[in-house]
Amino acid sequence: MPSYQPPLRDMQFLLHEVLRVSDEFKAMPRHAEVDADTINAVLEEAGKFAAEVTFPLNIGGDTEGCTLDQATHEVATPKGFKEAYAQFVEGGWPALSCDPAYGGQGLPYVVNQCLYEMLNSANQAWTMYPGLSHGAYEALAAHGTEEQKKTYLPKLTSGEWTGTMCLTEPHCGTDLGLLRTKAEPLPDGTYKLTGNKIFISAGEHGMAENIVHLVLARLPDAPKGSKGISLFVVPKFHVKADGALGERNPIFCTGLEHKMGIHGNATAQIAIDGAIGTLVGAPNKGLAAMFVMMNAARLGVGNQSLGLTEVAYQNALAYAKDRIQMRSLSGPKAKDKDADPIIVHPDVRKMLLTAKAYAEGGRALQMFCTMLLDKAHHHPDEKTRKNADELVALLTPIVKAFITDNGHTATNACMQVFGGHGFIKEWGMEQFVRDNRINMIYEGTNTVQSLDLLGRKVLGDQGAALRKFGKLVGALVEEEGVNEKMAEFINPIAVLGDQLTKFTTEIGFKGLQNPDEVGAAAVDYLRVAGHLVFGYFFARMAQAALRAIAAGNTDPFYTAKLQTARFYFAKLFPETATLMRTARAGSRVLMDTDAALA
Ligand SMILES: Cc1cc2nc3c(=O)[nH]c(=O)nc-3n(C[C@H](O)[C@H](O)[C@H](O)COP(=O)(O)OP(=O)(O)OC[C@H]3O[C@@H](n4cnc5c(N)ncnc54)[C@H](O)[C@@H]3O)c2cc1C
Repeated sequence: MPSYQPPLRDMQFLLHEVLRVSDEFKAMPRHAEVDADTINAVLEEAGKFAAEVTFPLNIGGDTEGCTLDQATHEVATPKGFKEAYAQFVEGGWPALSCDPAYGGQGLPYVVNQCLYEMLNSANQAWTMYPGLSHGAYEALAAHGTEEQKKTYLPKLTSGEWTGTMCLTEPHCGTDLGLLRTKAEPLPDGTYKLTGNKIFISAGEHGMAENIVHLVLARLPDAPKGSKGISLFVVPKFHVKADGALGERNPIFCTGLEHKMGIHGNATAQIAIDGAIGTLVGAPNKGLAAMFVMMNAARLGVGNQSLGLTEVAYQNALAYAKDRIQMRSLSGPKAKDKDADPIIVHPDVRKMLLTAKAYAEGGRALQMFCTMLLDKAHHHPDEKTRKNADELVALLTPIVKAFITDNGHTATNACMQVFGGHGFIKEWGMEQFVRDNRINMIYEGTNTVQSLDLLGRKVLGDQGAALRKFGKLVGALVEEEGVNEKMAEFINPIAVLGDQLTKFTTEIGFKGLQNPDEVGAAAVDYLRVAGHLVFGYFFARMAQAALRAIAAGNTDPFYTAKLQTARFYFAKLFPETATLMRTARAGSRVLMDTDAALA
């Protein structure tokens, strides 16, 4: 059976020593009073909830899955899920970072980020039920009418109701311009929706009183393609004027997908059979409104893989210290035993350190991004808000794709540490691999994220957003350039920063002549950019660790941090050279291959 310890020490290091969040909060009136003690106390309780309430339900949820009653269209979730959700609501956890105006606790997003990392480590399938509500909340908060906000936000905040995002249809996934669900205006200002959605996460369940579906659909006179999509809020149960629940709205689950992982989450086929909803935002501008939810969800998906990377690492590490097989190449280490623990073998260490480095780099990036969200929402200075907003937009596809791809590598490596036992269910390792796999696919596949990064976010604005991140790297290089102890961490990012600038210009130029060049380079490009970002955070973590050591702190945590950073720069970061080389090989070897694919 796997185990899980909330990584509170690493979270506190990042929050208080690397990102120095309390200093940042002092500039934001909403968070000026949020100090380190408050954050630490909240995270400790959050960790207990994850480790003690939802983690014990993870394997049962995977084995049991969800079941649909075709007669009533109700979905039963695995044993214990509903009770754990009631406890989550009772504890006020859904409200942690929501607006006090709607009953929220108003704590920073970065604290909520840590809560959700731990929940994802503990049980990704369960966490998706409350997780999607945050995106629905954000979309309604940004684009809803006062009436919609008043109706839905307090209930999403308390967790009494949960949210979904209904985009995908059988013939339309990546290309939302193809969607067919119809919305007809009614004389009372509401809309009648008809259509079929598939793959809707947390699409039906009895864990909450009501489900708030955010649905993309087309108005009768809508232009074709993505310019003719509108967003609607369609509740499972109608809401009366006094807030009480009314009649069942005909938006029904007609089937559940049988899938590779996240079995405890209900992935629903949804028939919308004349359900009544209201328009969110302007007609035909639904994609822009939905993007608020999609961006939140993309950061959330990165966080899912971060959680799985961490829990897989913890279990592989414990196993590698315990399992004895063969002797160390450099002579016996556990002489009192018949063989050495497998952690003595270089490649086992490589697998463990790969997962550890991907967890620590991912955590730094996720926290940095949620701090940016805090600034974008609550900093009094408009320029700071805008800057934070642009930076988080640039980094979102990297969070989504780089952290989930790394999660795939890491969970597989951790399973491999167990040898054949990793393939056997009782150890729980194969579930981490299976559960992680979807993270590379949904919320826009990782290929689509790479096109978003390179095509839209980098080339689309002539590299302006990328230069913003480059400035952060440049400032760190400038600050630490003369510090010999930092050279091993600073030199690689200084070199890669220059290389990425040239690489970007080169692809941009080739892309002008042939757009397939951008498509052919994008996935490699995102990984190179991801390593620059992780490299920057490993350098900042090394800087904080060296400072603590120089100040006389003997906590082995800091030595461990430096060793992990060294491993990262020596064994993972150099992948960038191969990636740039394969990207430079261009599109011809892909596109001139009709004969090969015939
Ligand atoms: C378990 C699960 C949960 C999900 N939850 C939700 C949910 O809650 N709400 C929701 O609306 N949807 C949900 N989805 C749907 C998910 O977001 C889509 O599956 C995903 O966006 C991909 O769409 P598709 O499956 O139709 O693949 P397609 O769009 O058909 O893509 C097939 C392949 O072609 C590639 N491709 C497509 N276009 C391009 C391009 N322009 N350039 C390069 N490659 C391209 C893709 O990357 C992919 O590899 C879920 C899916 C699953 C499996």
